[in-house]
Amino acid sequence: MTRQNLLDFSFQELVDFCISEQLSKFRASQIWRWIHCFGLKSFEEMNNISKSSREHLNKIASITRPQISEMQVSIDGTIKWLIKLKDNSEVETVYIPQDDRGTVCLSSQVGCTLNCSFCHTGTQALVKNLTSGEIIGQLMLVMDYLNDWPSGKNNRKVTNIVMMGMGEPLLNYNEVSKAIKIMMSDDGIAISRRRITLSTSGIIPNIEKTGIDLGVNLAISLHAVNDELRNQLVPINKKYNLEKLIKSCRNYPKLSNSRRITWEYVMLKDVNDTSEDAINLIKLIDDIPSKINLIPFNPWPGSLFETSTQENIDNFAKILMDSGFASPIRKPRGQDIYAACGQLKSKSEKIRKSQNNKLVPIYNF
Ligand code: SAH
Ligand code: SF4
Repeated sequence: MTRQNLLDFSFQELVDFCISEQLSKFRASQIWRWIHCFGLKSFEEMNNISKSSREHLNKIASITRPQISEMQVSIDGTIKWLIKLKDNSEVETVYIPQDDRGTVCLSSQVGCTLNCSFCHTGTQALVKNLTSGEIIGQLMLVMDYLNDWPSGKNNRKVTNIVMMGMGEPLLNYNEVSKAIKIMMSDDGIAISRRRITLSTSGIIPNIEKTGIDLGVNLAISLHAVNDELRNQLVPINKKYNLEKLIKSCRNYPKLSNSRRITWEYVMLKDVNDTSEDAINLIKLIDDIPSKINLIPFNPWPGSLFETSTQENIDNFAKILMDSGFASPIRKPRGQDIYAACGQLKSKSEKIRKSQNNKLVPIYNF
């Protein structure tokens, strides 16, 4: 009999499971705290649970994180893990330490079906949704490595989460929302919704739900300010066009000056980086509380694009700033360690299968 991995359970599912095994709801609360607050990986150390119950749990259940295939540490402190899932497919997880925070970037899918023309993840043939346990398991692995348990302690190393790794989180909504609720649980990892950002290419039917169910920060991969260009760069735009996308962002629940939409805008040379584009961007989002993140494109072999010149990026940023937007230009991190999203996975595949490398950067968030 395969043992049930408890990382795949919400609190209520754990309660139901415990009750079906003649363990009380109170036991379920204790187990939940051991797993999600103290980071235990086995039942042996759960010292407020009787030995016979622990032995029984050990027969029927496990607390299993995904495996680590590879880990690399950058001189700038960025750490990247290549993580192997049960079916041997792989995703990436990144930790980015900064002065005032530590951000973990989580993956939600193996590959992605949306085929954005500048993104290497979209070119991968295999697409699979991660389970909530595989998503929360990535975060737990990072906390294990950083010795960041119990979760309530002072000076936490992991303070922020971004769903900006591989995959489109809103196409795996059920598992992603379950994992986010688990990481927000007060009796667990207890990361506030204000410190969680979900990035989407614009899956409109799930945007409002995200605001209502989760209330996390929303980042939109905009990348173009007219439908003609966005259809090419982010093909899901053909289904959910800019007008509909902007409307759904304007209506994003809990939007305010302290809870702004982050617009991600990848800077592609001679494609979307003119002064006119910057002016049209301002017009498009003018009435929405907004932050803009300019992302210098990171090319990969075979990619059709080049990075904008520094001059164009600076000019674009200046136009935005002059009209009152804070528009940080994201700095690449961990460049010495294949730390870019998708890059470590490709590097190891290259070694194993002599495949092409891919070069997608990670950035300061
Ligand atoms: N699927 C989601 C989240 C993952 S991608 C989304 O698209 O929002 C995270 C961010 O990295 C997105 O803004 C994406 O557009 C950007 N990105 C992908 N490939 C890139 C590249 N080669 N250079 C720069 N940014 C890239
Ligand atoms: Fe998928 Fe996001 Fe890459 Fe587009 S940018 S292909 S939505 S992961």
